[in-house]
Parts: sequence; structure tokens; C-alpha cells
Amino acid sequence: MQNTIISVKDLKKNYGNFAAVKGISFDVLEGEIFGLLGPNGAGKSTTLEIIETLRDKTGGQVIVDNFDLDKEPDKIKKIIGVQLQTSGFYPGLNLTELIHLFGGLYNQPVNVIELLELVNLKDKAKNKYKELSGGQKQRFSIATTLINQPKIIFLDEPTTGLDPQARRNLWDLIKDIRSKGTTVIITTHYMDEAEQLCDRVAIMDEGKIIALDTPDRLIDELVETGFERPKITKSANLEDVFINLTGKHFRED
Ligand code: ADP
Ligand code: MG
Repeated sequence: MQNTIISVKDLKKNYGNFAAVKGISFDVLEGEIFGLLGPNGAGKSTTLEIIETLRDKTGGQVIVDNFDLDKEPDKIKKIIGVQLQTSGFYPGLNLTELIHLFGGLYNQPVNVIELLELVNLKDKAKNKYKELSGGQKQRFSIATTLINQPKIIFLDEPTTGLDPQARRNLWDLIKDIRSKGTTVIITTHYMDEAEQLCDRVAIMDEGKIIALDTPDRLIDELVETGFERPKITKSANLEDVFINLTGKHFRED
């Protein structure tokens, strides 16, 4: 049995008189990649930001690694890594300088080269943040979530706007991070990504969780209802063609 590392019970969030999160409950297990899926406005980011201690909740209970959000938010902050929006970095500093800056904020010594190597950016150690491509920026921002050696990292749409290659590189990186024992919570709009990456997913809509299970079981449940995909005529798709032609490995993504 895996341990529960995050427990959310009846979580509610109102913005004024608009209910953005309407009493959701779910557990995240230690060491899993947990996906929060749902259309824009479903309440995914609000939910994450509450767990991350960055936003107040209206009601409910959140426990992270046995710390109660209401009582010990500072303890929670110390064991989580949160991905900044890419606009949150000083564009004119190089990657080494930025990592030292974050290390200073966390009061943690950091092995810059090791960290950059993990996200395949060692060659860019002296490059400025603004000189990175979209995929490289995302990988760098994931690296910064790891500086305080967190037990849990939160990634809010880390692959939105990336090309197919950069997305795949990021999947490999996220799996790599998880294989070292870190729990990952991720939001995404890409269902192929969630299917590839997530051990379990919660599907949110209009502030509620409407399904929660492994991708495999959710698919099986749908199939059992008699659902059938429109006939698949080819065993590859255009994305396969693209990846096949342009290669899958870390390039200038
Ligand atoms: P998602 O991340 O699933 O797209 P959000 O959590 O960002 O959804 O937003 C959920 C709902 O709450 C949306 O309708 C959004 O417009 C609203 N909302 C988000 N943040 C605020 C805010 N600061 N003030 C008022 N409404 C907000
Ligand atoms: Mg969002």
C-alpha cells in the first residue's frame, strides 16, 4: 500500500459569490504522478494554489505530509516545490545565477551543475534565461522546483504551448523525477499526455471532481458502456510522422 501524502476533504473556494471549487475530496499517494484534468475554468489552478499555501480556501481540510494547512502552512512550504510561471524569472540573469538566487531564498546549498544536468541544460549554465527556447524554459523552471529537495512538486500546465518533441522531453524528465521518489501533481489539457504520464487522474468540471481513477480503468469503464471509437483506419497518426521525422531527443526544443 502506498501512503497518502496529500489529503483534500470537501475543499471549497468562493471568489466573491462565485463558487470556483465546490467541495472536492481526493487523496494523492506518495510517489505517484497525479493528474488534475479539466477544461479551462474548472478550478484546477485554484485547487493547486490552495494546497501550495498560496491562496486561502473558503472551506474544507487539506493535509500535506501530515501537516494541516490551517495550522502549519510553513511546514508544508518547506517540503513542496512549485513551478513559477515562466514570466517569474529575471530574463537577464544566467541559469547559474538564477539557481543561486533561488537557493538563497530557500537557504539551501545547491549543486548547480548536477541540477542543470538533470534537466539537460548543463550546456546552458552561462546562458541568460531569455536566451532559452520554450521547452528549455520549462525544463529550467522544473529544475527550480527541485532546489529545496521537495517531497512533492506541483506543475500547472508545464507543457502548454510546447512542440511535440519538447513535450516528450518533459515527460521523460517528469518520469525521471518521480523515479527518484518525488510525488508529482500536474495539470494538463492534453489527454495523451495524461494517459502516458499519470498513475491516476482526477477529472474536474465546474468546480467538482467528476471522475477519479487510473487512466486505464477510466477507459475500460467507458468501453464497458458500449462506447466505441470511430474506426481507427491507420496504426499511426500525424504526430507519429512528425516525431519520426524530427527525432525525439533533446535538441533545441
Ligand atoms: P483552471 O485552472 O481549471 O482553468 P481556475 O482555478 O484558474 O481554473 O479558475 C476557476 C474559476 O475561478 C474560473 O471561472 C476563474 O475565472 C475563476 N477565478 C480564478 N481566479 C480568480 C480570482 N482571483 N478572482 C475571481 N475569479 C477567479
Ligand atoms: Mg489553470
